[in-house]
Amino acid sequence: MILCGHEIAYGQKKEIEIPVINSNPIKASIFCGEKEGKTLVITAGVHGCEYVGIEAAQRLKNIINPKELCGNIILVPIVNESGFFSGAKQVVPEDNQNLNRVFPADENGTLSKLIAHAVQTYLYPYADFLIDLHSGDINEELFPLVFFPVAGEQRVNEKALEAAKCLSVPYRVKSTAKNGLYSYAVQQGIPSLLIERGFGGLWSENEVSACIEDIFRIMSYLNIIDKSYDNINQTEISIAVYEETECNGFWYTNKKAGEEIKQGDLLGVFQTANDKRCIFAEFDGVVLYYTTALGVQKGDALIAYGRA
Ligand SMILES: [Zn+2]
Repeated sequence: MILCGHEIAYGQKKEIEIPVINSNPIKASIFCGEKEGKTLVITAGVHGCEYVGIEAAQRLKNIINPKELCGNIILVPIVNESGFFSGAKQVVPEDNQNLNRVFPADENGTLSKLIAHAVQTYLYPYADFLIDLHSGDINEELFPLVFFPVAGEQRVNEKALEAAKCLSVPYRVKSTAKNGLYSYAVQQGIPSLLIERGFGGLWSENEVSACIEDIFRIMSYLNIIDKSYDNINQTEISIAVYEETECNGFWYTNKKAGEEIKQGDLLGVFQTANDKRCIFAEFDGVVLYYTTALGVQKGDALIAYGRA
């Protein structure tokens, strides 16, 4: 069969390169199942310092056995390779753009737009389902969660939500995002999820194992593998608040990721030369993630929290 434009036999795997206009190709592994079924696209490393998903995807290259699959896997461990090797926080270093904010693609744009173009051209058309693996970045602490989209058609959103419930992360968070790799895929009719696990430029064996298990849980949900998992207790976050900075300044956090908060709790203080803003919780809930950095710039997320 044909995957990403490459011919591959049933029960085989193949390392391929996805072309990017005027730049280095993106490396991918394609697994064609022994039997036919759905195709799952797994991407990681859209943000180059979010390591848990990247390492999980690296290992999956040797763990997934195409002879055991009813369907196909397209695995891309590092979408933003220059960001990964240079340790660039949240951006593609060549153009300083956040790849998860530049969709839809533009084939006349800078490198971020060209990578997005490659993803749209060579990955989206084959995907029955898409998972994008992230974590808190090097300046963030985060509690494991999955973002499920509401930007697509209802049937697509529902499919993504159903799959999110099968994962082992403790929180699932509704997302209205539209310009990211997974959120644009949803608008193109592909049920998609963004999983966040790990943070702070770190990774651990436990987190990588949990991430790999989540991939297998999705494969099970899609009937690509013949294995079942018990659902774990998961809380849906229907309302979330994302506090961002409007200018550069100092950030003094007062809470930890995963910490339960009460309405009126002081979450942190944002300070500039002329101003001091105390941020209080608007409702009882839980901290999803926050910035650990002392110095923050315009547009940075300070803290995010939510409630069921
Ligand atoms: Zn990310």
